[in-house]
Formats: sequence, structure tokens, C-alpha cells
Amino acid sequence: MSDAIIIDGKKAAADKRTELKNIVDGLDKKPGLAVILVGEDPASHVYVRNKIRACEKVGIQSFEARLPEKATQAEVAAEIQAFNDNPAIDGILLQLPVPDHLDSDALIHMIKPEKDVDGLTLPNIGALVAELDGLVPCTPQGSMHLIKTVEENLSGKHAVVIGRSLLFGKPMAQLLLQENCTVTTAHSRTQNIEEICKQADILVAAVGRPKMVKGEWIKEGAIVIDVGINRLDDGTLCGDVDYEEALGKAKAITPVPGGVGPMTIAYLLANTVKAAQ
Ligand code: NAP
Repeated sequence: MSDAIIIDGKKAAADKRTELKNIVDGLDKKPGLAVILVGEDPASHVYVRNKIRACEKVGIQSFEARLPEKATQAEVAAEIQAFNDNPAIDGILLQLPVPDHLDSDALIHMIKPEKDVDGLTLPNIGALVAELDGLVPCTPQGSMHLIKTVEENLSGKHAVVIGRSLLFGKPMAQLLLQENCTVTTAHSRTQNIEEICKQADILVAAVGRPKMVKGEWIKEGAIVIDVGINRLDDGTLCGDVDYEEALGKAKAITPVPGGVGPMTIAYLLANTVKAAQ
């Protein structure tokens, strides 16, 4: 098969933003999103700029706290506390990674769960596992949205998620389980990973290793979601899946860039609107 559907994350994200703008227009108060950025990591600065632009597009008010690389734990904590206490702010995001001398877990757990738009605090993790209402991490939500543009009913499908991070792999596996998939989580200690991937009707890769998943790892007709973002020596971006090879096997695949990435921001806005509501 060589006519794989290229899942258009930019379009899906634009449609999601339109839906969110309509909701925001009907609210009495503009939702507010606060982003805390510590240090000078250039990629983080680009991500934050993109998030702020996306907020403007849907009518969400954005707030920013930029702290220097040498900021102390207490200084970052004070910013989080101020945003927790500010009624204009519905969502708080600590841009990761933070410099090594800071305890990122302690900072994340300071965020009020109802403002935790990254879905990383313990009450939100618990709510996801218990299938209760809470804020779910953005990238898994965006990935599920893209899978559903191809296939609505996932019941009984075998889903393989490569990666078990708290930010992506674990919550993605939970969302797939909620859709009645049979879920396998693979990671760096998994044996025979190629054989496991070959069984996947839905294959989700979130590792951070360029083109790790080869065409021959992919079951004919699988839906492939490539979450990885890797910068190659020539400056171009690629995913964790060998895209060219995968095109010949998959039923549908997300490109990198232009697949999962735009959906992450769209669902950050969605979580902010949800928190405001
Ligand atoms: P992470 O915390 O570094 O987790 C990577 C996972 O990959 C770990 O669970 C690790 O296993 C596993 N792994 C590493 N080497 C492996 C191997 N050889 N075989 C199988 N599994 C292996 O990363 P993350 O935050 O989940 O992000 C993963 C990728 O997604 C990165 O490229 C990141 O940039 C990208 N990402 C993209 C978006 C987006 O918006 N598109 C959002 C988030 C992340 P262990 O647990 O055993 O170490």
C-alpha cells in the first residue's frame, strides 16, 4: 500500500482553534493562561512564543513570567504561587525542561490542580487513571484526536505506545485503554520491540530517536502517530518513524513537522478553556 493518508495536524489544530474561539466568545470573562519560562533554552523560547500567539488567536489572555537561568527554587515557586492566587489566570504552565538545579517535580506539584493545564499534578494523573474528570496532558489528547480523524471506533484494536513518560507515554496508554484498545507499552528495556510493533493496529512512537521505527516494523494498514521531534545535523526536523518507509505500509501517518506538534498547542488552549469553564 503506498497511498497512506497523511494526517494533517495543522488543519485539525486550526479547526480546534475555531471551535475554541466560538466557546471563548460566549464566556463572560476571557480565559487566562500563564507561562513560566526559566533560563535561555532557545527551543523553549520558540515554544512559548508559539503558545502565546495561539492564545491570541482564540481570545485567551496570556501572561508570562520569565526568570533568569540562575533563578532559585524559591523565586520560581513565588511566581507559581502568585499565578495560583490570581483570579484572572485559569491555566498555569511551567515550560519544561527547567535548569538542572531546580526541582521540577516540586514546582509542578505546587500548581493548583484546577489550573494545571499540562495535567502533570498528582490529582490530575489520578483522575485520568480513575476515568474521572480532570485535566489530561495535551499531546496525548491531540494524538487521540488525530487517530480519531482516521478511525472513530478503536474498540479491540491493538495499540502499541513506544515511550512511558509521564508527559506522554503513560497518559497516551490510558486514553487508548479508555477507548477499549488492547495496549502494550514499550520502552528502553523492551525485548523484541520490532516484533511487538508489527502487531500494532495503532502504533504511537514517542522516544526522541530519529527514524527508529523502520517500515518493516509496521503492520500493513496500521495507523502511525509519530510524536518524536528530532533535529538532524542539517537542521531539518524528523520524527521517530522512518516516514518514507512507513508510507508504504501504514494506512495513515502523521508527518513531522505538521502532525502532532500543532495539536499539542491546540489542546493546551482547550485545557485552558476547560479550566476557565
Ligand atoms: P522522554 O521522557 O525522554 O521519554 C522517552 C521514552 O522513550 C522513555 O520511556 C524511554 O524508555 C523510551 N526509549 C528510549 N530509548 C528507547 C529505545 N531504544 N527503545 C524503546 N524505547 C526507548 O521523552 P518524552 O517527553 O516522552 O518525549 C518523547 C519524544 O516526543 C521527544 O522526541 C519529544 O521531543 C517528543 N515530544 C513531542 C511533543 C509534541 O508536541 N509533538 C510533545 C512531547 C514530546 P525508558 O522509560 O525505559 O527510559
